[in-house]
Amino acid sequence: MIKVCKFGGTSMADGINLRRVADIVNSDPARRYIVVSAPGKRYGGDSKVTDLLYGVWHEVEETGSVGEAYEKVQTRFFGIVRELGLNYPVEELLGETAREIERERTADFTASRGEYLAGKIMAAYLDVPFIDARDVMKFTADGRLDSAKTYTLVKNALKGKRRAVVAGFYGETPEGKVKTFSRGGSDISGAIVARAAGATVYENWTDVSGFLACDPRIVPSPVGIRALSYKELRELSYMGANVLHSESIFPVREANIPILIKNTFRPEDEGTEILPISKYRYSGRVVTGIAGKKNFTVIFLEKSLMNAEIGFTYRVLACLLKHNVSFEHIPSGIDTMSLVIDSETLAGGVLEELCEDIRAAVHPDAMRVFNDIALIAVVGHGMSRSVGVSARLFDAIARAGVNVRMIDQGSSELNIIVGVDSENYERTVRAVYEEFFQ
Ligand code: ASP
Repeated sequence: MIKVCKFGGTSMADGINLRRVADIVNSDPARRYIVVSAPGKRYGGDSKVTDLLYGVWHEVEETGSVGEAYEKVQTRFFGIVRELGLNYPVEELLGETAREIERERTADFTASRGEYLAGKIMAAYLDVPFIDARDVMKFTADGRLDSAKTYTLVKNALKGKRRAVVAGFYGETPEGKVKTFSRGGSDISGAIVARAAGATVYENWTDVSGFLACDPRIVPSPVGIRALSYKELRELSYMGANVLHSESIFPVREANIPILIKNTFRPEDEGTEILPISKYRYSGRVVTGIAGKKNFTVIFLEKSLMNAEIGFTYRVLACLLKHNVSFEHIPSGIDTMSLVIDSETLAGGVLEELCEDIRAAVHPDAMRVFNDIALIAVVGHGMSRSVGVSARLFDAIARAGVNVRMIDQGSSELNIIVGVDSENYERTVRAVYEEFFQ
């Protein structure tokens, strides 16, 4: 049995927490390969080392050398080594790292040093080899993971090692430059290591005891989710349930490796298990979870006989392509179509230009733009087994006095997405939770 364990920023925040991590790892001989994040926040209002490092990057960009921000990074690592009581040449390592940051001069390299340094220290404390992600995680020229190369290199690096620590979050481009995944990307690194190691399970250790049925900032103490399918996870994490990076399922899904979300600070809690559909046990609940995000724009188009106009959607999508804008959803009817788009990608005049282009390309009878839309995803395999789910959902929303702006039920019966005005977001989530969970 091989367990790959990834520890997140809070688990790595200070020396006391690193000791907890070591205790967890040492308590089970199957926990062989450890992937670490950079130290995160120790308390509310604290800074994550990764954020400090982006500050270091700005310093280097402006002045050519590291300065005050780097001192803060040093203080964090000095503290960790001191609290661990570890005899480790951390000053020397931090000095070398500063010179490298000044030499390499990229944001990604600078940001990646949090995981690099944390990994080195964790490996020294556990007395196991350290694997630099730069040597094993490879990207293609267009910035995607080079899976074939990466899995082979990780496998070879692990071969013959009983245990090892791998730095999360970064890899290397074909030009030999360090590149990071998107924020929170150590989850992806962990999944890659799990896949390459042929792990029995990918344990993802964080600061909560798994997924909750909805955001606890909106509904106090929502019920926990014991088991999720990969698909449910993808839907929920994409829509804002941010326990796990939404792309981290891909490496493990292909190999049917379950993910187990565990709490470093309450290791006895069961956590959430994420399983392939073949191993998924129906919980009996109609809805597994609710997630959502604000800040979407909906462009609504209407044109008589749209359904019969060959190439209508194609021409609309060509306008999106021209402006390099991706869409989240396109619910459509026979004469109508809505483009749901992340508002951030439409800032700086893009929305106006895009609308003009669409108008010129398809000559709609009507075109309306709704700003400030929130999307709420109601997710669960159970929905396909039950009659009347939509009726219950929309009845609950109507009872809360909320006007639904958009509905998209995907094609899998796994997910119903509802668009409402952002000001109604919290009220809608509460109403849906009450309907399906209380
Ligand atoms: N340290 C990185 C971040 O803060 C990556 C990670 O923790 O997964 O985003």
